[in-house]
Amino acid sequence: MSKKIRTRFAPSPTGALHVGSLRTALYNYLFAKHNKGDFILRIEDTDKARFVEGSIENLVKILNLTGLKYNEGVFADNDVKIVQRGDFGPYVQSERLEIYRKYVDELIKNDYAYFCFCSQERLEEMRKDQQAKKTAPMYDGRCRGLSKIEVENLLDKKTPYVIRLKTPKEGFTEFNDLIYGKIKIENKIIDDQVLIKSDGYPTYHLANVVDDHLMEISHIIRGEEWLPSTPKHILLYKAFGWEIPEFAHLPLLLNPNKSKLSKRQGDVAVEDYLEKGYLPEALLNFILFLGWNPKTEEEIFSLEEMIKRFDLPGVNKTGAIFNTEKLDWINGAYIREMDLGELTKLCVPYLKKAGISELSSGYPELSSETQFDYLKKVISLEQERMKKISEIGELVKFIFVDKLEYNKELLIWKKMSFEEVRNNLKLVYNELEKIEEDNFTKNNLEKVLRDLMEREGIKAGELLWPLRVALTGLKGSPGPFEVGKVLGKERVLGRIRFAVKLLE
Ligand code: GLU
Repeated sequence: MSKKIRTRFAPSPTGALHVGSLRTALYNYLFAKHNKGDFILRIEDTDKARFVEGSIENLVKILNLTGLKYNEGVFADNDVKIVQRGDFGPYVQSERLEIYRKYVDELIKNDYAYFCFCSQERLEEMRKDQQAKKTAPMYDGRCRGLSKIEVENLLDKKTPYVIRLKTPKEGFTEFNDLIYGKIKIENKIIDDQVLIKSDGYPTYHLANVVDDHLMEISHIIRGEEWLPSTPKHILLYKAFGWEIPEFAHLPLLLNPNKSKLSKRQGDVAVEDYLEKGYLPEALLNFILFLGWNPKTEEEIFSLEEMIKRFDLPGVNKTGAIFNTEKLDWINGAYIREMDLGELTKLCVPYLKKAGISELSSGYPELSSETQFDYLKKVISLEQERMKKISEIGELVKFIFVDKLEYNKELLIWKKMSFEEVRNNLKLVYNELEKIEEDNFTKNNLEKVLRDLMEREGIKAGELLWPLRVALTGLKGSPGPFEVGKVLGKERVLGRIRFAVKLLE
């Protein structure tokens, strides 16, 4: 029987979740699920200085929101209390310190690691020296040769120390990356990596290797930035005599100008995108394409479809461009497919933010129940055009304002005069006034106005452009019939009167 596929997402709780990390989580999830394997969430919190309170909770929340369900690891019960579940725990590295200590002792015993007592000042000097000579920054190995007695003496004197990997100085380290192919590195350029820091905590490298082994991770899928660390990890696996897992490094995320995706050029935190009103499923769909594509024209993938289709050989080596226009397009496609009630619920907080919560003052006829129904009609106007939920306030503000503000020139269609436009609006007014309140529907408005245009020999633009502007005050908006229906007879007539006055 072949070995069970097990992948892990191993973020460090250092603040917001980077979109690149969400991609790592997604690909690990898809690969595991595609192969009927397990997906694990492990927290790598061995860097105490970079720990940010609340980041674990935040992480778990985002993974829940996006639907990337993991089998083992750290969970939030009832969305609050952090708990751990699974047979390979603890899944938080700071709770595994004794385990690392035990394994590093084994390395020391077998001469694969050594105590290093060099002071910060000495290391600093060494680094400066290397910089000046333009040689690669690496430990010069001074403590590699300390005798057992010397080490014991220094330990007895409580001299601060770190524990380093004793890398071989000859030969090569090789591995086959599932995305980058064969990688071969000369051992002499691999640094004697610190494994245990002076605070007694393991470094990422040691903890990562020990945990991936003990948690029986079969495939390590992570960002390209970890590729240079992999030879050190391979040396560790070999030193322990452990089976080496498969590695797959994912291409860098780039800005449209091909520079590395960074905060300076825009948002990089998943939280920022969710806050802006991107739907979690649309964001995942977009992220899927950052490094992988189905090699067909298909663009919209549900999580199930992604699981069915995703494979590692399909991942590119070249950097993936983070193109927010594409994200907008995908998000718009998801919004168009949404149930109107659900969409409206999502829009409410953004309407409030835009100051449109005071519906009742402008719309005294609406009770709290009818308010929601009315909002649904308003949102339906924009469902086709909306790219992200956060735009909704701006898009529909015109419905709620008491008095529109626009230049009267905007009412003019092509070369028409103010007077001609005014006359057309008056004609519209007279027709609409005759419609019963209950018949003020989109279809009816359209019929009445088309009849009017035919009777009077008026071209569509000459009548519908000024009417649309009179109702919205905007250069671009949904059409006048839909808007007319949502505004209702009284407001429509009021806005036309206002436009006619402007043109006098
Ligand atoms: N803790 C590392 C990170 O924050 C994990 C790297 C890995 O997956 O090995 O990205």
